[in-house]
Amino acid sequence: MARPPESVVHGSQAPSDETPRAQAKDLPAIDRLLRLSSVGALVDEHGHTLVADTARALLSELRTAAVAGRLSQSAIESEALTRTLHTRVQTRLVPRMRSVLNLTGTVIHTNLGRALLADEALKHLLAVMQAPNNLEYDLATGSRGDRDSIVENLLCELTGAEAATVVNNNAAAVLLTIAALARGKEVIVSRGELVEIGGAFRMPDVMESAGARLVEVGTTNRTHPHDYERAINERTALLMKVHTSNYAVQGFTSAVDEATLCGIAHARGLPVATDLGSGALIDMAAYGLPREPTPQEMLKAGCDVVTFSGDKLLGGPQAGLIVGTKEAVGRIRKFPMKRALRMSKLPLAALEATLMLYLRPERLAQDLPTLRLLTRPLADIEATARAVRPELQAALSARYTVECVPLQGQIGSGSLPVERLPSAGLAIAPVEKKGSGRALDALAAALRHLPTPVIGRIADDRLILDCRCLEDADKLTNQIPLLSL
Ligand SMILES: *Cc1c(COP(=O)(O)O)cnc(C)c1O
Repeated sequence: MARPPESVVHGSQAPSDETPRAQAKDLPAIDRLLRLSSVGALVDEHGHTLVADTARALLSELRTAAVAGRLSQSAIESEALTRTLHTRVQTRLVPRMRSVLNLTGTVIHTNLGRALLADEALKHLLAVMQAPNNLEYDLATGSRGDRDSIVENLLCELTGAEAATVVNNNAAAVLLTIAALARGKEVIVSRGELVEIGGAFRMPDVMESAGARLVEVGTTNRTHPHDYERAINERTALLMKVHTSNYAVQGFTSAVDEATLCGIAHARGLPVATDLGSGALIDMAAYGLPREPTPQEMLKAGCDVVTFSGDKLLGGPQAGLIVGTKEAVGRIRKFPMKRALRMSKLPLAALEATLMLYLRPERLAQDLPTLRLLTRPLADIEATARAVRPELQAALSARYTVECVPLQGQIGSGSLPVERLPSAGLAIAPVEKKGSGRALDALAAALRHLPTPVIGRIADDRLILDCRCLEDADKLTNQIPLLSL
């Protein structure tokens, strides 16, 4: 990695006692700096604005350093100045959002962007974003169309729903569903399902934002049909189930399943909504993965509305999917808040292409990266770890030991929280036990500073690199020579 440009002022180029110091008056005027021929090339490439702004900021910093007596003559020679200016301009053009290698062992990692898009989704996205498209234009009639229609039929076909709509993310789907069906009224939820998903998404708060009153029933571990029955009154508008996606209640437990709850609600003319969180559209067990409830099952059980995420197990872009009855989805779609939460054309294009992959289930485990990674054979993962180990050991030489180890990974994003995925990877331990915490932090930082940052995790005094999501070992081994510790 290039040294940060700050080194002109601090670090190696700060004047020692012998080097002559520069005065503020020795610094060139901005116009003179911009007229240097090598700076001219930079202006030709990027235009005057970016280069002049960057030069102005640089000169101002150098002036401060000079006044403080911290600037050497050598730092302000034309060549050094130009070099620094080049680096700074390049640095400003490096996007903040970058690709990383996810070696955390958590496949759908919320902090690392969740699901990877399939090639088909990327191709479609690029193709329809480069030109005008029929986002809200009905090609059959030549009149205004509805963006929902792009994915509604597919979603209905895949889930068995009568109707479907989509919004920006699943938090928005839940908020909109509650607001549209129960604003100013009561929503009954089991105390065992008052989930916090992370960040600011807590069921009781969402209820409040949606303008509905939460009525809690049952206890943390047990809720019975009569708990719901007793809570229903003339103010009740909705009964809700929330999939406890990031924790599990185990032991002496009892919950009311969707079919029973729908029986109770429908007998009183009330709808039931289920928030699934991660929505697997396929039976995960058929792929040897832990079972997850599907929207299909929830609809069969009688739920009026089912909400789920687009970028968790579904393996698509960020999206909130809402499927259900014509009646309920119709009310949700017409609710004014929908306009503020609607999906943009970018993820919508990616979502359509992702959903289409489900029309070819036999190919899904190859075509959908999330499923491909989740079902990657253990022997493959172990082979990757073995391929990387010697090179990493050589680069870390005497300071660390690198071992191939069996690991337990996770699906992630709150899906299937207690289940573990048998995986494999590398465990790196400092040889010197004294100061090993610092040595591990230094190594983790060095890995993060690679051109494609490598993200692992520290556990039990070791840095762990889970190789499940490293399908191409070269992406790591090619970078090992750049590792600077
Ligand atoms: C993840 C999750 C959400 C939020 O979905 P986003 O797509 O992240 O907005 C809501 N409910 C449950 C149960 C979840 O697991």
